[in-house]
Amino acid sequence: MDILISEELDSPAIQRLAAKYKVLRQPALWKSPAELKTAIVGVRAIMVRNQTQLTAEILAAASQLLAIGRVGVGLDNIDVPAASKSGVVVIAPLDANAASVAELTLAFALALARKIPQADRSTKAGGWDRKGCTGTELDGKTFAICGFGRIGRRVAVLARAFGMKPLVFDPFVKQNSPSLAETGSSWVATLEEALAVADFITTHSPLTEETRRMFKARTFALMKRGAFFINTSRGGVVDEAALLEALRSGQLGGAALDVREKEPPGERTSLEQMDNVILAPHIGAFTTESQTRTFEAVAGDIDRILSGQPALNFVNMASPTREARIMK
Ligand code: NAD
Repeated sequence: MDILISEELDSPAIQRLAAKYKVLRQPALWKSPAELKTAIVGVRAIMVRNQTQLTAEILAAASQLLAIGRVGVGLDNIDVPAASKSGVVVIAPLDANAASVAELTLAFALALARKIPQADRSTKAGGWDRKGCTGTELDGKTFAICGFGRIGRRVAVLARAFGMKPLVFDPFVKQNSPSLAETGSSWVATLEEALAVADFITTHSPLTEETRRMFKARTFALMKRGAFFINTSRGGVVDEAALLEALRSGQLGGAALDVREKEPPGERTSLEQMDNVILAPHIGAFTTESQTRTFEAVAGDIDRILSGQPALNFVNMASPTREARIMK
């Protein structure tokens, strides 16, 4: 088998691959690591989004694997060091969805500030509750940006356009980084300093051992009372029970979450009952433009690797370094 697709993925770019290579589509395979471990044997490339867990154990079974195509950003479901050790190229078009995620972040900020979901719900229910829908302006407010990479930098630019003051916390960004001046952002050395003054807080860091549950009871307690919290990064950076408590107590004015600790959450949690919470089903990258860019880049690179050329969008190496058995 040339290419295994282990999630619900489709696009014209995949259809073009299917016309050229042997492609096995198993949209539910990600749910069963044991079946995945069997199916991946003999496969030359695998295409995944964020549900398939490509652990060192699964990758060890994939002795013919040359490339992993990650349709999207965020590599927490792939053991990249294990892939690199086996000489497998990890393809990920890292800039393809930054604009979409940044725009969603600003959409969340506006929706929270102007109570758009509440206005929509109450008006459709026959009400005309102008007083209850009194919001706040973005203009002049401090927007703390935790994680100043591709998405965080774009958020700063968009926030500035609304008159906001972007304030960056990122342990890997230095105070004299040119990207701060380019985006009109200020810098702080610690998250605590950012939380103390921010009216809005947004997180754009990867999910790592350091960032896991970085937003917890203590963190929410350090925020200004009534601040708004936005997460379009990964659900694992937030302790949802602590977030719920901060929302119930009024410590937070509202929150918007595109990502959850468990996706999909399964049963309804108490967050779904809260009036001041906006929830979305991980749609940060779900725009037609972003999806097209991402699929074209991943499918193009899988085609390049399988035909002996180097990848263009790789995170570890351009070409596989393992001896590959030619299956075709
Ligand atoms: P990036 O790698 O360009 O930027 C991440 C930034 O986070 C880097 O500047 C890094 O220095 C910083 N960082 C690392 N550890 C940190 C810490 N402990 N505290 C604060 N900052 C820290 O990544 P990106 O393209 O901007 O994407 C950011 C994240 O957004 C991804 O890792 C992914 O999980 C998530 N994402 C979500 C969606 C979605 O659909 N909602 C789509 C794309 C990406």
